[in-house]
Amino acid sequence: MRAAETCAWCGAPFDDRSPRLAGRTVCAACGAATTDPRPDDEELEAAYGDWYRPKDGEGRFGFAGDAILGWTRGLLAGHLDAVAPPGPILDVGAGEGTLLDALAARGRRVTGLERGAKREDFLDEPIEALPRGDGWAAVVFWHSLEHMPSPRSALREAARLLAPGGVLIVAIPNAASFQARLFGDRWLHLDIPRHLVHLSTATLTAGLGENGFRVEAVSYVRAGQVMIGWLTGLVSSLPGRLDLYQALRRPTARAKPISRRNRLIALAAGVVLLPLAATAAAAETLLRHGGTVYVEARKPLPVDRTLEGPNQSG
Ligand SMILES: [Zn+2]
Repeated sequence: MRAAETCAWCGAPFDDRSPRLAGRTVCAACGAATTDPRPDDEELEAAYGDWYRPKDGEGRFGFAGDAILGWTRGLLAGHLDAVAPPGPILDVGAGEGTLLDALAARGRRVTGLERGAKREDFLDEPIEALPRGDGWAAVVFWHSLEHMPSPRSALREAARLLAPGGVLIVAIPNAASFQARLFGDRWLHLDIPRHLVHLSTATLTAGLGENGFRVEAVSYVRAGQVMIGWLTGLVSSLPGRLDLYQALRRPTARAKPISRRNRLIALAAGVVLLPLAATAAAAETLLRHGGTVYVEARKPLPVDRTLEGPNQSG
């Protein structure tokens, strides 16, 4: 671990105007927070361990959680297929490949980037290593941008890879959400040290604009994981340090073992607090301060000079 000296988002140096919070420092220049101290490669590897994406192929969540994730990725694939021009689609941080499978089923050529990639349509490479080819129709960062050591450079690379008119999709936790403010250092989606940068909708869309993207849609419904942020936060507010998130994960997908008794108490608390969490999630979504945010942006087509009349030049 070493102290963060510059903002992971805009590169500005930290100084005594930069608020130091638990595990992160806020940039006075752009408002993004950077995980501080910054883990080195080895510490990050250890932080993911074998539990984050268990290799037994059994999935991560109990209680139909994986089925729900699969269904929502199917909806996303349908939407993306409709808004992107014809051509191949790149998923950066493709996980188990659920989104890519849904896109391939729609006839799209797909490539996923993922650490330790095992599939034929996956590459274990940084986005910087990819050739542009004829240009990609879409690049997706589905809850992956916040895991990247150089997120701003990743956006620049996406701009380089996309064909003109191509679509960029980013889903991230929203650091300006009501749940982030209420739960503070306990907020599920801080996920330190795995999340290296913490953005709000405003910091994300500003960064997209500076990389030449035109933001076309901002949604607090599409990015998902809003309910779980509220539910785990409310359960963790009870006495007994209950961890509902780990309780919901399958045994091999847990960061640490959990006793049967504590698991049952956490799950029971989750059931009791479900209506309150649902109400809070609906309220913050309606007020556009949702716990996660989905942004859809486009790389503009080159300006067609032939459309400009001769009188506009003077
Ligand atoms: Zn900054």
